[in-house]
Amino acid sequence: MDNRLALHGGPKTKTTPFGTGKRFGLEEARELLEALEQNTLFYHFGAKVKKFLADFNELYGAARSVAVSSGTAAIHVALGAAGITVGDEVITSPITDQGTLIGILYQNAIPVFADLDPHTYGMDPASIEARITARTKAIVVVHLAGNANDMDPIMAIARKHGLKVIEDCAQSYLTKYKGCYVGTIGDFGCFSTNDFKHISTGDGGIVTVNSEDEATYYAAHAFADKNFRRFGDTVLKDLQHLAPNYRMTELQGAVGIAQLKKLPWICAQRMRYGDRITAGLEGLPGISVHRVLEYAECTYWFYMLRLKMEELACTREQFSQALQEEGIPHSLGYIPAVMYLQPLFQHRQAYPGSQFPFDITGITYAKGLCPVAEEILETALRLPVNEFYADADIEEMIAAVRKVAMHYAGSL
Ligand SMILES: *Cc1c(COP(=O)(O)O)cnc(C)c1O
Repeated sequence: MDNRLALHGGPKTKTTPFGTGKRFGLEEARELLEALEQNTLFYHFGAKVKKFLADFNELYGAARSVAVSSGTAAIHVALGAAGITVGDEVITSPITDQGTLIGILYQNAIPVFADLDPHTYGMDPASIEARITARTKAIVVVHLAGNANDMDPIMAIARKHGLKVIEDCAQSYLTKYKGCYVGTIGDFGCFSTNDFKHISTGDGGIVTVNSEDEATYYAAHAFADKNFRRFGDTVLKDLQHLAPNYRMTELQGAVGIAQLKKLPWICAQRMRYGDRITAGLEGLPGISVHRVLEYAECTYWFYMLRLKMEELACTREQFSQALQEEGIPHSLGYIPAVMYLQPLFQHRQAYPGSQFPFDITGITYAKGLCPVAEEILETALRLPVNEFYADADIEEMIAAVRKVAMHYAGSL
């Protein structure tokens, strides 16, 4: 057998295309037609957004939820309903989509970053607790890439310090933690249905409101709708304070109804494939697998392994080039750098020409603030996981990573 890398003239591991499929079909089209036939596309008058939420609540065992226009909006609504306001501090993850941070800054609250677990990429409870000050009001827990954070210690810290917990589940549908879905554990769970997530309504989002308190639900509902409080036939329009318009339309709700039916299959496929990659790479020199807590289930929005550079006689770029030549698509890292190294935080300028709200506390965001998170991004290699892949695609992905790792580990 010719073990040479494709890069060195050996046989290429993957020579057939990856499995693909259609995300949308007649199911969505039928729902859309029904939505149009209602003669209204307004969520409060139509039946589609209501049905989408009812189906979501049933699938999740959630008490109540609110439909919104994006995942970013979902997080902003949760923050608004939690009463986050000017000068509050909100602790979150430095490895995330900026959608996690936008609502914090629009509330003129201050993002504070906690460090991560090196292998699950979840938030480190000890680091969260170390960042708490008298200003801290909430934690936005980011369940990255379909993987659950260790919620029990995080909830215990939050309860001890009287903090609200908002779960960012944009990348983590049907992710289980100790038998519960993430998004039903904290005070709020925030989901995105943008076109790149497990399910798509083009754009859209959902906020679960997990507290028993009716007023919190109504606050979330109103915060997504200009603070109009629509209860059945009555609409209260007196404006107590500011809230955006983040309403979902009936068209998105209609597509969402059909997409939700596919969600369990999508997540089961992704879980099986991601876990198979871990089994296939476990113990390999030079590779740290995408670790899942023993009492959790991951629905892999992507698979992010880390290279142990000290065990490999190559750079991350050389490893990547060799894997590319084997026919395996992938990317290095995830976001270009941890969020606090973005110009917005380095210049402390969320609003052009202003240092507000950073100047309230004089917070700074130096490199080295979250060393584990920085190291994760510097050593990570991300493999795509998709529900339409075939088993053989996953096996070839594993074979290619094994081949490249063995080559560079063996020649050390
Ligand atoms: C996608 C995403 C968001 C934002 O969702 P949008 O629908 O794009 O606004 C927020 N947080 C995380 C972790 C995401 O992946």
